[in-house]
Amino acid sequence: MTQHSIHSSKDLLTSVGLKRTKERDMIFRELENRKDHFNAEKLYVSLQRKKARVSRPTIYRTLKLLEKLHFIEKLDIKKNCFYYEPISQRKDHGHLICEQCGKIMDFSSHGLETLKSEVCNDKDFKLDNISVQVFGLCRDCQRASKNKN
Ligand SMILES: [Zn+2]
Ligand SMILES: [Zn+2]
Repeated sequence: MTQHSIHSSKDLLTSVGLKRTKERDMIFRELENRKDHFNAEKLYVSLQRKKARVSRPTIYRTLKLLEKLHFIEKLDIKKNCFYYEPISQRKDHGHLICEQCGKIMDFSSHGLETLKSEVCNDKDFKLDNISVQVFGLCRDCQRASKNKN
């Protein structure tokens, strides 16, 4: 695979020879402004709010496409619940995922850096991206379960 550093999704589309459509452009503009983790439904709602006419199927299709192009990364939260985040915003952080409420928090750790250099040196493997997801209970959900008992 070739290394490309494309910061604008519009360049991304043309670079892989895909057509730019009005709908795709609207989705891209929305993605470029987002700093949080999002899923198709969240995206749909915020586009609706901006009066952008983009259908759900188009959003799902476009997200899949962008994932294939490594512009966004899919975070596997639970079955049938996927979140995405733009790869340009990842900057090597891991995710803490609450299994109760589905909250996603970013964390960074020197451990990730260590892991990176270890993988590269020991296995002679050219690393592209590490994805670390830690599952558990967030503070709020821990409190809630304590209160129940
Ligand atoms: Zn929680
Ligand atoms: Zn994140």
